[in-house]
Amino acid sequence: MSVIIKTKEQIEIIREGGKILAKVLEKVAKKAKPGISTFELDKYAFDLIKEGGDTPAFLNYRPVGAPKAFPASICISVNNEIVHGIPSKARVLKEGDIVSLDLGLKHKGLFTDHAVTVPVGKISKRDQELLDKTKKALEVGIWAAQGGATVGDVGHAIESFVNRKYGIVRELSGHGVGVKIHEDPYIPNYGKAGKGQKLLPGMIIAIEPMLNMGSDYITTADDNWTIKTADGSRSAHFEHTILITEGEAEILTK
Ligand code: MG
Repeated sequence: MSVIIKTKEQIEIIREGGKILAKVLEKVAKKAKPGISTFELDKYAFDLIKEGGDTPAFLNYRPVGAPKAFPASICISVNNEIVHGIPSKARVLKEGDIVSLDLGLKHKGLFTDHAVTVPVGKISKRDQELLDKTKKALEVGIWAAQGGATVGDVGHAIESFVNRKYGIVRELSGHGVGVKIHEDPYIPNYGKAGKGQKLLPGMIIAIEPMLNMGSDYITTADDNWTIKTADGSRSAHFEHTILITEGEAEILTK
């Protein structure tokens, strides 16, 4: 595999898709209130995407080696769940939860990927700090992703910023995106400055730090999809799809 430099035409479509995705996710996030089930949020995301004439990228997505396809449009991961949570009627959000909403969109054949973690009602100060730190870690990663920098520079910037205050999920990473939902290069949220693939103008990547209140370690739930913290601590996740330019990257999912 190798990295894909997008054409002007592809960039234009992905930019358009990114704007649509940002609007959809913002609407879904606003509905994440106490009493709503994650199933209802998924249905809402599906309907919004279909109304716009697009396709949810994660629905029926089956990566190589996965035992079954992902059965929903949006990944909803609550509290100690990190990513890839499956929406369900039984999972009802309650006051004090933190919920990661991760959504992929296929627009005119091209993909964008975006995630936020939002508070459900009033949350603890400690949880709010985790959310703020993770969101800032994403900003730091995006800032580092300037033309000519490397994948290692991005990971190093995030890891240094987190500075061991939180666990960093290491088994999962950011990735190229656009022609497929997951492309090369993979972008870990840790690394060595100057190492790895060079980021070149025209590359489109998703950066997505996942920070745990406790240790780095993760485990997979019995549903074979949901990734949780091994120690049961809470976790947050933010993600943007960005375009690498000569200078500061352009955020496409906003
Ligand atoms: Mg992603």
